[in-house]
Amino acid sequence: AREAVARRVDALVRLVPDYPEPGVLFRDITPLLADGPAFGDVIASLAGAAPGGVDLVAGMEARGFLLAAPVAAHLGAGVLPVRKAGKLPGPTASASYSLEYGQASIEIHPTTVPDGARVLVIDDVLATGGTAAATVELLQSCGAHVVGLAFLVEIAGLAGRSRLGGLPIDTVLTVD
Ligand code: AMP
Repeated sequence: AREAVARRVDALVRLVPDYPEPGVLFRDITPLLADGPAFGDVIASLAGAAPGGVDLVAGMEARGFLLAAPVAAHLGAGVLPVRKAGKLPGPTASASYSLEYGQASIEIHPTTVPDGARVLVIDDVLATGGTAAATVELLQSCGAHVVGLAFLVEIAGLAGRSRLGGLPIDTVLTVD
């Protein structure tokens, strides 16, 4: 069954060369989101990544939101938006991380994370792992217990997994 879901994802994620900049092969998930049965299967698959239950599902802006919210509802958990800097009214906790050129920051409302809360982190694509590593660091600094991460697509060649400190990582589709 997992094999079949991976094949559906492979068929429905559109490859866009040189977007948003030359040299990047962008994985466009909008055809997958638009396919009701495939979307449902993907949400169920990602929800299966929560070992021992979770209190919160964290999703990274913006495509992570589209996956984290239905996974949270599926699990009966809350959803935690991990936002780009300046979007939350605060008080916020933030973490900075390096991009290919320059820096980025992400923020959450720490009052929505009870001490010791079990959190599953979700995003569409695991590439270099910079975004996910910053998210884990931010959640842990707020007292959360990150139980694992789940992604629709892992680009194995970029070795993002190696930056996530041995946490359990579940991916629906792994590509080179
Ligand atoms: P990274 O921090 O390098 O792991 O990049 C992960 C973030 O950038 C995720 O939020 C993805 O949505 C986005 N991203 C990185 N590479 C791609 C790609 N090839 N296709 C689509 N989204 C990507």
